[in-house]
Amino acid sequence: METLKTNMVILGGGAAGLCAALGAVQVSSSIRLILVSKGLIGKSGSSRMVQGGFNAALKGDDSWKLHLEDTLISGEFINRQDLVSTLAKEAPRCIEQLENWGCFFDRKEGNIHSKTFGGQTKSRTVHRKDFTGIEVTSKLFDQLLAFEEQVLFLQECRALQLLQNESGAVAGVIVFDIRKGTLYLIQAKVVVLATGGAATLFSVKAPPMEKSGDGMALAYRAGAQFVDMEMVQFHPTGLVVPGTLLNGSVVEEGLRGIGGKLLNSQGERFMERVSPNHKECANRDVLTRAIYREVKEGRGTENGGVWLDLRELKEDVIKDEFPNMWKRISLLGKDPKSDLLEVFPTAHYMMGGIRINPYGQTSISGLFSVGEDAGGVHGANRLGGNGIADSVVFGLRVGQNAAIAAINESELQRNFQLSLEKQCNQLKKKLQSPFLNEKGVNPFYLRKKLEETMSQLAGICRNEQGMISALHFIEKLKEWHPRTYINGNLSYNLALQEWLNVENLLIVASLIIHSALLRRESRGAHWREDYPEKNDRDWLSNIVIFKERDQEEDHQLKTKIEPVSFTMMSPETVNSRKSILPPETKLRS
Ligand SMILES: Cc1cc2nc3c(=O)[nH]c(=O)nc-3n(C[C@H](O)[C@H](O)[C@H](O)COP(=O)(O)OP(=O)(O)OC[C@H]3O[C@@H](n4cnc5c(N)ncnc54)[C@H](O)[C@@H]3O)c2cc1C
Repeated sequence: METLKTNMVILGGGAAGLCAALGAVQVSSSIRLILVSKGLIGKSGSSRMVQGGFNAALKGDDSWKLHLEDTLISGEFINRQDLVSTLAKEAPRCIEQLENWGCFFDRKEGNIHSKTFGGQTKSRTVHRKDFTGIEVTSKLFDQLLAFEEQVLFLQECRALQLLQNESGAVAGVIVFDIRKGTLYLIQAKVVVLATGGAATLFSVKAPPMEKSGDGMALAYRAGAQFVDMEMVQFHPTGLVVPGTLLNGSVVEEGLRGIGGKLLNSQGERFMERVSPNHKECANRDVLTRAIYREVKEGRGTENGGVWLDLRELKEDVIKDEFPNMWKRISLLGKDPKSDLLEVFPTAHYMMGGIRINPYGQTSISGLFSVGEDAGGVHGANRLGGNGIADSVVFGLRVGQNAAIAAINESELQRNFQLSLEKQCNQLKKKLQSPFLNEKGVNPFYLRKKLEETMSQLAGICRNEQGMISALHFIEKLKEWHPRTYINGNLSYNLALQEWLNVENLLIVASLIIHSALLRRESRGAHWREDYPEKNDRDWLSNIVIFKERDQEEDHQLKTKIEPVSFTMMSPETVNSRKSILPPETKLRS
């Protein structure tokens, strides 16, 4: 085991982690930090996969207020308004900063070009064709390499446990080197969680598998608070290609923005019926429910999807603006000019997460969170293009604030709850334990069962009975988990990684369900067939959920239901400004 001491540790090498690191080194040349990433830095996580683009109100007819308004309407008004206004105000400046760091966004006639994305009153999604994520993460990492003296990069290393001092403040982290099978004990003044959520909990999903709720599980064990964990976004158009790795991969929203249509098996363009004004450009939650209904009511395709029709789009536009989509469709052996594509909603993004303030501070001293790990920005439904904007805007901001907190903390903590030696020994013992079982459950089997349970009982459409059954099954999986058998040794062992993933995913799954059981209404991504209506009277509220630091079990979860604070805009304000709003975004209560 190697011991390291530093000012701050950032966990996660996606856009949020990279921006947090860049934000931190800008504060002072004396800052020293360690950037730990389970995957390759800048090449792992969802950020790299961002196709559509980055929302920023750049055009003359647009403004941060309209961006804020669209985001709140889409989030069905349970977003935290101070976070949304920060996002909308700072996004344009971040685009400028990204350009200065070398990102090429597409331009037309000299101006930055933007796409039309669902639920937005203006076209404000800035992009680099349909590989915006590659452009952004590569250039962010290139920038950070200039600070090699200040930043130590630990790649293919996963955080396993936060270190807490006697009063519960976070003061470091224990990290597992996936390649070597050894531990790093890192003492630090602050830790930033940017590990990117856990939308991989479902059978059909879009994010990469290494995102397994690790940051959320670390925060949960440390006693942090979570907000609106029931809000899990499904992207309406995931490809249906059963038995292949392309199953669940996203067909970019911009293709619907330029005229792609959804058809049921009877050839009906059903969005004309469901959302006559917006059709395929409706919000993601509206489209997801509509597609789900078509399939459940028997108007789906043989593989349980609906058709995406791109035949009327211009071939050169698809090839030029969506080269990756063209390639992906070709990989399926299809021609977008003559063939229909089969699609169904795919698990995509977690809107709920660790509760933060606009400085990224969690409820635990010394612990910050940013990006998809953190909750509150997107409310009940994230707008496409607001995810990468969230990671970049808050990444830079939270990195700076965490660095300032580290500077203000004069000394590294030395008084830990448990001696560091004891904590490391306990972890080593735990990592060895599945190798000592002579037989037992396979971790990949546990993962499959968990995904099936979440998809069937706590996915797009939920009800109380189903979710209670899901919770019972999750408890069983938690009992099976210590009985896992793994062959081999600690070094580069994928089964061991999956065993650790499942342990964390089980925590996140149970937080999602506990929160979803509490919210007795349907709002945004949270659709309860036993409470099908949105209920603004009782539920314009956030659900906060956590366990006390010293509690072992999650059946002692604490919950609070807190009314939303309408500091910028309320549902009434918006209804009175309906001239600038598309009709079906009016509140339905
Ligand atoms: C297919 C797809 C397309 C998308 N398209 C868009 C789009 O067009 N526009 C948009 O705004 N948003 C889009 N999103 C959402 C967007 O990708 C996310 O909002 C954003 O990238 C999240 O950034 P992040 O840094 O929080 O997490 P990620 O980019 O997912 O990064 C997480 C990082 O944490 C690391 N990590 C995980 N666990 C650990 C651990 N235990 N220890 C250390 N490191 C760890 C991972 O290896 C990774 O480096 C898309 C998402 C997907 C999946």
